[in-house]
Amino acid sequence: MEEDISILLAKLSFSEEETKRVVSKKANMDNSKGYEHWAIGKLMTKEKVNREAMYRVFISLWYTKEEVNFVAIKEGGIPVKFCNKEDRKRILNLSPWLFDQCLFNMVPYNKDKTMEDYDFSHSPFWVRVSNIPMEYMDRDLALERDRDGGWTEYMRIRINIDINKPLRRVVHYIDHEGEEFVCVIRYEKLPRFCYICGLIGHTTQKCKSR
Ligand SMILES: [Zn+2]
Repeated sequence: MEEDISILLAKLSFSEEETKRVVSKKANMDNSKGYEHWAIGKLMTKEKVNREAMYRVFISLWYTKEEVNFVAIKEGGIPVKFCNKEDRKRILNLSPWLFDQCLFNMVPYNKDKTMEDYDFSHSPFWVRVSNIPMEYMDRDLALERDRDGGWTEYMRIRINIDINKPLRRVVHYIDHEGEEFVCVIRYEKLPRFCYICGLIGHTTQKCKSR
């Protein structure tokens, strides 16, 4: 079929109108397509971060099937251009992503949203809860060596945390007999945070509440 058309076209003599060229004005078409796979990321810190270095580190850590590009914007959200759905899904599922102990919080891109519309207030974290009475551990248990060389049991849970609130370090748990247990929460990949107010994004030295 293609051949037929080319033979046909070869035989044709074009009219003046037909020889006029139609030039695409969408010069950036290749860059803008596929936005449904993009994400928007934000550095959740007041500390200075070397963004170029962060982009390089993430690109090398992510092993995406296809190329990924960060759009350099000085302030606010950073568009992260994934080229396919699987890459984005995998990288978002592996959140939180930290660079230099600062949280880079990512959410899926939405073409109908402006940068201000994005909500970066929550981030998933893996936490380890230990000191839970054995009979209340109803999820997968894990074991790890504690500081004294013994074994500690803990429950590993993925939770979505409101990062504008102080990080919770313990849970006071009261069982049906009224006995209280203090369960300890440890965060995997904990960003740099402030020991005074418990918030992430600044260090103790820069805390405004002290
Ligand atoms: Zn603080």
